[in-house]
Amino acid sequence: MTNKGVIIFGDPVLRKKALQVAKIDDRIRDLSARMFEVMKKARGVGLAANQVGALERLVVIDTNRGETKGHCFTLINPEIIGAKGGVKLEEGCLSFPDVSAEVERPEKIGFAATGLDGKKFEFEAEGILARAVQHEIDHLNGVLFIDHLGITKKMLLKKQLEELKKLSKKS
Ligand SMILES: [Zn+2]
Repeated sequence: MTNKGVIIFGDPVLRKKALQVAKIDDRIRDLSARMFEVMKKARGVGLAANQVGALERLVVIDTNRGETKGHCFTLINPEIIGAKGGVKLEEGCLSFPDVSAEVERPEKIGFAATGLDGKKFEFEAEGILARAVQHEIDHLNGVLFIDHLGITKKMLLKKQLEELKKLSKKS
């Protein structure tokens, strides 16, 4: 099953580096709104602009889950400004339907970004938020979560990944 509106692994846009957003205008506000909609429908916690075919440094995050209160952000030109520790967590991606794998990443991070209001801010994150922000900033650089896997794990996923590539060519 694919996630409606989300570009699937195999499409070259997921390997491209997104460009710095110079001006927050209606185009950027519309893109953010559209991405929130796509993410919500797909029940994701994060989505990067590359995943909807836009090469802009824009990420949406929503870690609210049922009763669990999380964070909801539009991050424009986000950057990691500090990282601490390391933790392995099961990770998936809306561009890789039905694929997940344990990925090791820093446990706590600091990040800086500009909000839709044009104001720059800094934030410290841990847990699922830290995970999502790192995963999405990777997307903006053309990096995918499978790039963090060791060779053995990658071999195990090989077949699934080939299937996704076929799927992405069809759509
Ligand atoms: Zn992803």
